[in-house]
Amino acid sequence: MFDVIIIGGGPAGLSAAIYAARACMDTLLIEKQPVGGGQILNSTEVDNYPGIPGVGGFELGQKFMDHAKGLGIRQVSEEVIEIKCRGDVKKVVTDKQEYEAKALIYAAGAGHKKLGAPGEEKFAGMGVSYCATCDGAFFRGKTVAVAGGGDVALEDALFLAKVCSKVYLIHRRDAFRGAKALQKRVKENENIELVMDTVIEEICGDSQVREILVYHKKEEKTEKLAVDGVFIAVGIVPYTDLLQGQVKLADDGFVVAGENCRTSEEGVYAAGDVRAKAFRQVVTAAADGANAVADIEKIMEKG
Ligand code: NAP
Repeated sequence: MFDVIIIGGGPAGLSAAIYAARACMDTLLIEKQPVGGGQILNSTEVDNYPGIPGVGGFELGQKFMDHAKGLGIRQVSEEVIEIKCRGDVKKVVTDKQEYEAKALIYAAGAGHKKLGAPGEEKFAGMGVSYCATCDGAFFRGKTVAVAGGGDVALEDALFLAKVCSKVYLIHRRDAFRGAKALQKRVKENENIELVMDTVIEEICGDSQVREILVYHKKEEKTEKLAVDGVFIAVGIVPYTDLLQGQVKLADDGFVVAGENCRTSEEGVYAAGDVRAKAFRQVVTAAADGANAVADIEKIMEKG
């Protein structure tokens, strides 16, 4: 029986692992990928984590994992298929075995939200991508569109502008929600054309994406743009299926939990992007991991 099982090896899970190890808790970290980092593995650069400006996402994930492992936590690369949250003993079933713990920190993160435009599914992997750093190199010298107005869309546009001849950044409103520093770089980049107040109505092609139909909301007109690829960065959906019916989830699927990360089920914590909260950053995910462990420690000391 472990003191705590942490599910997910992104910034929240690895921060929790570091704090749990330092609190001398017998800790198991379950992350299905062999490397740590979660979503930051898809970031070319993380420029707002204190003390390490401009660090690569992969490198930062490795640093987090090395730090946790250096403190002696046990980590397994297994896929969690079932969680039993009820009762004093929490059970986690993976594709290999079953584990038990006194407390559980769920930090499984989130995946890509779909745009919902016709052609998106048909051309997935044939010009439609959700990961600029993974697939950008295939579009060297070509023209692509990025959909979205958050941090990820801005980062993707900047990354793609280095390899592509032209990047249309298509956003449904007239203002971006991503960080101001990224907005400035996007606006100054000659390879990026901003297409604001515009939605992608359809993604078209033959064996590959060839063009998109966009609707300019202000002008109330539809236009065809010739593109070789479409990168979709319209937000995230939390991986909370395993918690359905066990802890309280918000309507959009995020776990309802306060700053101490306690869920509606005693001894079960939600940390990082899975938690319903206002600001999702590497630094706030890491803070969640620390807060969850601090709360568990307090309860263990009392009990
Ligand atoms: P996000 O911040 O939720 O932004 C999603 C964007 O997509 C928004 O601009 C939204 O438009 C647009 N959108 C949503 N649904 C759409 C649809 N159906 N059609 C067209 N546009 C749509 O998501 P994200 O950029 O993926 O970032 C996810 C989280 O990770 C955010 O909290 C972000 O701050 C965080 N993040 C942090 C870092 C870091 O710490 N360095 C790096 C990357 C991301 P509206 O603006 O109109 O809603």
